[in-house]
Amino acid sequence: MRLVLFGPPGAGKGTQAKLLAEHRNLLHLSTGDMLRAAVRNETPVGLEANGYMKEGELVPDDVVNRIVEEAIADLDHSGFILDGYPRTIEQAEFLLGRLELKGTPLDAVVSLQVPEEHIVQRLSRRRTDKETGEIYHLDFKPPPADIPQDRLQHRSDDQPEAIRNRLVEYHSKTKPLEDFFRSRARFIEVEGLGGLEEVREHIEEALSSLEATA
Ligand code: AMP
Repeated sequence: MRLVLFGPPGAGKGTQAKLLAEHRNLLHLSTGDMLRAAVRNETPVGLEANGYMKEGELVPDDVVNRIVEEAIADLDHSGFILDGYPRTIEQAEFLLGRLELKGTPLDAVVSLQVPEEHIVQRLSRRRTDKETGEIYHLDFKPPPADIPQDRLQHRSDDQPEAIRNRLVEYHSKTKPLEDFFRSRARFIEVEGLGGLEEVREHIEEALSSLEATA
């Protein structure tokens, strides 16, 4: 299955994409994770992306498209789930064009619906385990007590100013993709509020009915 998990920052895309990838043996491709790794390793892409990411702005399309193109070039998995990509019309055109050339079109875009008032709260209370990449929430999914505090990272772009910028970027550049996807792919809206398992079940139900009609 080839999927895009779509939604605003803080909708739970990363957490759900990870669960879905494990369950369905899909390759989980998170452009956020790939870019953060590039920043950590100080690669040319990382050096270019770092400033944008710190401010909560989108990294230029050509940079992101390049890393996605490399990642999907030689897939030997049963498919992939893209998390955090595409985020602009230009990225979406690029992706659909590449997949068409390979003869492997997208099966669906799953859009996680989360009202705006929940987003800031979710992001500001989010913590990431630096070693495992596991994402926690101080209220809803607290980290286990035996993880040392210094392993838990509050992402610099989860600070209030950067969160505001990320939302502005989302509204101006990413949200318009909803209409784009509605006309170019199967666009499935799924309730993103609720517990982790609950949301996972909503997604699985949506995918099962998609498979049943395929
Ligand atoms: P995420 O972990 O998906 O929230 O992404 C973190 C940051 O990485 C974003 O705020 C952007 O600066 C950058 N980023 C991730 N994916 C993309 C993308 N598809 N296009 C542009 N910038 C991206």
